[in-house]
Amino acid sequence: ASQADEKDLVVIGGGVAGYVAAIKAGQEGLKVTCIEKRGALGGTCLNVGCIPSKSLLNNSHLYHQVLHDTKNRGIEVGDVKLNLAAMMKAKDTSVTGLTKGIEFLFKKNGVEYIKGTGSFASEHEVKVALNDGGETSVVGKNILIATGSEATPFPGLEIDEKRVITSTGALALEKVPEKMIVIGGGIIGLEMGSVWSRLGAKVTVVEFLNQIGGPGMDGEIAKQAQKLLKKQGIDFKLGTKVVSGDASGDKVKLEVDAAKGGKVETLDADVVLVAIGRRPYTAGLGLENIGLEVDDRGRVVIDSEYRTKASHIRCIGDVTFGPMLAHKAEEEAVAAVEYIKKGYGHVNYGVIPSVMYTHPEVAWVGQNEEELKRDNIPYKVGSFPFSANSRAKTNLDTEGLVKMLADPETDRLLGCHIIGPNAGEMIAEATLALEYGASTEDIARTCHAHPTLAEAFKEAAMSTYSKAIHY
Ligand code: FAD
Ligand code: NAD
Repeated sequence: ASQADEKDLVVIGGGVAGYVAAIKAGQEGLKVTCIEKRGALGGTCLNVGCIPSKSLLNNSHLYHQVLHDTKNRGIEVGDVKLNLAAMMKAKDTSVTGLTKGIEFLFKKNGVEYIKGTGSFASEHEVKVALNDGGETSVVGKNILIATGSEATPFPGLEIDEKRVITSTGALALEKVPEKMIVIGGGIIGLEMGSVWSRLGAKVTVVEFLNQIGGPGMDGEIAKQAQKLLKKQGIDFKLGTKVVSGDASGDKVKLEVDAAKGGKVETLDADVVLVAIGRRPYTAGLGLENIGLEVDDRGRVVIDSEYRTKASHIRCIGDVTFGPMLAHKAEEEAVAAVEYIKKGYGHVNYGVIPSVMYTHPEVAWVGQNEEELKRDNIPYKVGSFPFSANSRAKTNLDTEGLVKMLADPETDRLLGCHIIGPNAGEMIAEATLALEYGASTEDIARTCHAHPTLAEAFKEAAMSTYSKAIHY
């Protein structure tokens, strides 16, 4: 590429971070190119993450409900059969529709899309090995690294995506395994464990810590979630570490050890899902060619304006600091482009919601009780159970609660933690309240439609400074 073809912005990676930045840059009138090697846009999230997992979660939940939860609703069903291939096809249709949609948005916003693998030739030039063969290069006034993350492997257990799988294999199994062991009781383990448990697998989750849910989940809520998932048939081994694995025989064997040095035990399964976290992905990017640094966890080092050591090269999304969430990547994408175009941008890292899409869903935003205690921040607690909410009762879906943490003097909301039906939608209300610095009284004095699940949210707020009406 010559200097004359210089782009205002070259984005490496077409995941949520990269594609959103490219679209935003196009909207801002910047000349922008996005390089993606996968052959499809949308990254992990659209292709092998958020979207396909939610398709399987939704449809496996329906299947499970039709099998086990119709009679008391006055619905009699006949022979219910799983057609796994068709369920997978429905998932693929959702994925393709969305990834193609992004290609359309690229065209609409004048984004150039190059299918290939990008690597730094120099501080302003990115070489691209094209997917169709051959090579090209692009020169950028600004460059954005958005290369995402990959599953952290488990030492000694080779991933074949058939018997020893990551989430990617868990989204594409061709038959329901009899026995599945999940290493890691974080969000991936619990979401994908739920899918296969509902479809008929005997699922055991082995978690190193004494609590499921991964980082950030409130302790009380995590306990409830574990209880409800156990009731659905998932077994848990907490405080237990997988020390080694062997996939050479008929079954995959795992040696597990009580984390605090208990007795060693051997477990076996037809399929083992490795879900022990994800790590930043920078392989082949050539960061070393231009002297860019990663930290001890492989994250590209940036400042508060997403700048690397070379100030025209910025970095966002899973490949750098912060929670590995699609909506976090999206916020950063908009902010990074605003920094480039206008010189200022903003993401409020204290107000990023998390959702676990099991049934019931678990969702939270702000601080949890353990964090408030750790930081010596005074708080008061309000809560409201869905068993006292009229809509949950009419839906025969009453498990869970809304829990609110608020400043004891000002009532200002500090955190909200929900386990219950549609928690993932309801958390948006708490997120908005937190962003605007609302007090729980502000929330409780806001009229909520009846009968809705959101009334549980209002009554939880009421209970922090007064009494809930219906409980
Ligand atoms: P990615 O989506 O990983 O995108 C990076 C892209 O860069 C990839 O497509 C890759 O091919 C490309 N790339 C890498 N190197 C190069 C290179 N050198 N040249 C060209 N292209 C390159 N988050 C949520 O918020 N909600 C969810 O429900 C959710 N569910 C998930 C379920 C699963 C099973 C998994 C694995 C993740 C889930 N996540 C979810 C996390 C979410 O997928 C990530 O946070 C999000 O995809 C991060 O976006 P990103 O653009 O930073 O990285
Ligand atoms: P995680 O960090 O959420 O959970 C990993 C769990 O594995 C932890 O609880 C950890 O203690 C445990 N663990 C680690 N080593 C172990 C060992 N040897 N034996 C037993 N347990 C062990 O990671 P994840 O579930 O793999 O998810 C990765 C990322 O993807 C997360 O950052 C998550 O935010 C994101 N994601 C989000 C969603 C969502 O938003 N709904 C869905 C899927 C994935």
